[in-house]
Amino acid sequence: MLAKPLKKEKQIKILLTEEEIKESIKLLAKRIHEDYTKKEITEIYLLFVLKGSFIFAADLIRELSKLNLKMKIDAIKISSYEGTKSGKINICLSELLINNLDNKNILIIDDILDTGKTLHTLKWNIKRYYKPKSLEFCCLLKKEQKINDVYLNVNYIGFVIPNRFIVGYGLDYNGLYRELPYIAIYPGE
Ligand code: 5GP
Ligand code: MG
Repeated sequence: MLAKPLKKEKQIKILLTEEEIKESIKLLAKRIHEDYTKKEITEIYLLFVLKGSFIFAADLIRELSKLNLKMKIDAIKISSYEGTKSGKINICLSELLINNLDNKNILIIDDILDTGKTLHTLKWNIKRYYKPKSLEFCCLLKKEQKINDVYLNVNYIGFVIPNRFIVGYGLDYNGLYRELPYIAIYPGE
């Protein structure tokens, strides 16, 4: 008797390897360091967006520290995704109000720029409560779809990727896949 054919396992498709990510982070750190040094800024206020950017932020911070850029580091929780669908933005404002950000050179770190809503909301709230000296954004990834980035000048971007739902290197699907050392297209898509 013939065995029932096995269900074909969905394969994870790697988009960016561990090595490619590492290399890109080194270059980002170098550019950031050069730009701030040119402006004679020796200390920055680095604010990373939880949860998705925690691994990227940790690696970028370690690269920046090798270049002797002094940093004050903080995090803020902002969420919008449920599964693979983007929804209402939830920002934890109390975290933003703990430290005074007046006169700071703020560098926001996030994992991925998709519609731009998350970073717009953060920028809007920072400007609502504080007068920072400068405000820059750094994202490891940017989806190639057109975003409303007229008011959002993201100076530092590691990779532009196709408009697919991705996981790994801190990015999740309902809490899963964050631990992957590479970035992959979500296998259930
Ligand atoms: P935006 O507000 O720019 O539309 O989306 C940004 C946030 O949505 C990111 O910080 C990230 O948390 C989440 N996000 C956007 N695209 C993806 C994706 O493809 N995969 C995962 N896991 N999260 C995403
Ligand atoms: Mg996020």
